[in-house]
Amino acid sequence: MKESGRKQGTLSPCAACKLLRRRCARDCVFAPYFPADQPQKFAIVHKVFGASNVNKMLQELPEHQRSDAVSSMVYEANARVRDPVYGCVGAISSLQQQVDVLQNQLALAQAEVVHMRLQTHQFPSTSSSAMAATNNNSSHSRRSYYPLNEVEQADVEDSLWS
Ligand SMILES: [Zn+2]
Repeated sequence: MKESGRKQGTLSPCAACKLLRRRCARDCVFAPYFPADQPQKFAIVHKVFGASNVNKMLQELPEHQRSDAVSSMVYEANARVRDPVYGCVGAISSLQQQVDVLQNQLALAQAEVVHMRLQTHQFPSTSSSAMAATNNNSSHSRRSYYPLNEVEQADVEDSLWS
């Protein structure tokens, strides 16, 4: 499993050792996660975290968690390069805002449902005017949430992992 990133019998160094211009040992900690054909993966984590920190972080983890750790470091490093001020916190905070907006929308919709049920079942005589007021409110709120661009968010999400 340790050697999974390398073809057996070849002496070509992993992407990390190639960039650091050092010999790639058989037990190289980087080799399984930074194959030679994806040099940009190591280049970006080296730029943001530094090779020796990445080395240390991987050494401190059990082997079965290292692959996930590398994926998240690559993601974080890409986010930091793309957004030098907020890094991946920018994405987290934007998603948190979307959650808040959607929770508000859900609460409004649930209130609307309760309202409509009450109108229909208990107070049939006043239903039409009250319902018109509710609809006006909710359609106005929905319109004001549209500036959040979900397509753009999805794009960022996909490409940061590469
Ligand atoms: Zn190596």
